[in-house]
Amino acid sequence: MTTEFQAFDLHPALMQAVDELGYESPTPIQERAIPALMSGRDVLGQAQTGTGKTAAFALPMLHGLQTDEARGRVQGLVVAPTRELAIQVAKAVYEYGQHRGVRVLAVYGGQSYSHQISRLQRGVDIVIGTPGRMLDLIRKDVLDLSAVRYLVLDEADEMLSMGFIEDIEAILSETPSTRQTALFSATLPEPIRRLADRYMSTPEAITINPKRLTVAETEQRYYVVNEEDKLAALTRLFETEDMTSALIFTRTKVRASELSDALLARGFPAEALHGDLSQPAREAVMNRFRRGQVTMLVATDVAARGLDIEDVSHVVNYDMPFDPEIYVHRIGRTGRAGRKGVALMLATPRERRRLQEIEAFTMQPIARAKLPTPAEILARRDAQFLLKMGGHLENISANEHALVAQMVAAGYTMEDVAAAAIRQARAQEQQRPIEEIREVPARPQQHRAKFEERTECAPKRAPRRKGEREPGMVRLWLNVGAAHGIRPRDIVGAIAGETGIPGRAIGAIEIQPQQTFVDVAERHAGQVLHKMKHWKVRGRVVVLKASE
Ligand code: AMP
Repeated sequence: MTTEFQAFDLHPALMQAVDELGYESPTPIQERAIPALMSGRDVLGQAQTGTGKTAAFALPMLHGLQTDEARGRVQGLVVAPTRELAIQVAKAVYEYGQHRGVRVLAVYGGQSYSHQISRLQRGVDIVIGTPGRMLDLIRKDVLDLSAVRYLVLDEADEMLSMGFIEDIEAILSETPSTRQTALFSATLPEPIRRLADRYMSTPEAITINPKRLTVAETEQRYYVVNEEDKLAALTRLFETEDMTSALIFTRTKVRASELSDALLARGFPAEALHGDLSQPAREAVMNRFRRGQVTMLVATDVAARGLDIEDVSHVVNYDMPFDPEIYVHRIGRTGRAGRKGVALMLATPRERRRLQEIEAFTMQPIARAKLPTPAEILARRDAQFLLKMGGHLENISANEHALVAQMVAAGYTMEDVAAAAIRQARAQEQQRPIEEIREVPARPQQHRAKFEERTECAPKRAPRRKGEREPGMVRLWLNVGAAHGIRPRDIVGAIAGETGIPGRAIGAIEIQPQQTFVDVAERHAGQVLHKMKHWKVRGRVVVLKASE
């Protein structure tokens, strides 16, 4: 199979992995960063989660892996702000490198040292971790960075706002100056630029500036859901939308096939369209779609290119597009020729920032909407059923009347017969259970913005009134304070490092001389209390309790 990835001339084992993952074409950041990194240049990339940045730095890193005497020493290092991201990146690097037999290890706080140490002693090629734990392992003389040839700082601005810059500098100083460095960050504030100036050699700066395009008059809505709830969310939406035909976009062909299978299993007439289909197979799918036998077409952007479809009632961004320009192309498939179109998008909590990017690009707001509740779906099913019944009541045949008479003669009441007939008529609804969806709190992003302001300009902050707390947050109390040398970044670093919760889930921090109050998102509070039982600050055991 040919893919646009072939132009990069990646190691065949990596091409195999890319192919198996179902990637059809590189994302904009990959298109620019991969050749630059493969040519040995440093890269300063402005990209956030969801743009494909992990493959952008991991594929060149894996391509350049030495298989000779350097094997078994750490050659690649990725520094990430949180445990969650470190694990996610490690998983991706492992997947991309699996056919090269690469040994990947994630190191982060909260996991016992012994496992990480024994893995390091047995030999690891690539280490991905949070700054605190990496430094600990360096100080314990088990993490040797003297053979590092390729270093990545991922989500550098997050690390800055969590107070990790000094730690990063300490890690950088342990690596050879001949190493290649890539830095990825959603924003490039001054301290990040300074870091790049000091530790990178004439990096290629990569920002993606999509071409501006106009958007038709289409109703645009988005829903924030966790990745694992996307299918349940989509099924709920299909129950309540007045949908005659839909084009659903996924980021890979594997996901397109899986989604269409899952929809079919739930009784929705869906088919996948992806780049691997032969021309006749593609034509056959398109014909079924045009005739209305299939009303949901699940496609990748590549497969949808040049698709000859007049108009669809709905475009669904099941996976967010990699750049705003693609969003505009996608939604241009609905609302054509003056018809009313609807564009829906499922965004994961981490993708909210990219949503703002799309809004800024199209200069149109996308409204956040709430998913229909199970009660709303049941009510809608009832209403639709009654509507259909209305039609049937006009057209009852003599045979059907005879069957009813037969059952009444057998001793059943009319009501029972009707109720049993309803159950039978609605049997296929059982195929579509209404699945649980975990609630995503409204706009945690705002908390994060406040938090950044706080850590960076802490002395200027006006004292908060006692007892005042951010919405959705609970306050925790610690038995250490300024007198024990505690600083906001110690708290954020320890909590985020040990528990892996995102920095934005940590709110206001109020350090008093002998005690400290810290706000933590309600849904993470239990985890923080549980995981931080044995936390020590400068040799002193910290007691952490729910406040008030
Ligand atoms: P990232 O921004 O690295 O977190 O990637 C976001 C998602 O996009 C991940 O699920 C990747 O597996 C996926 N992805 C990365 N590159 C591509 C590509 N070229 N085509 C399709 N999916 C991709």
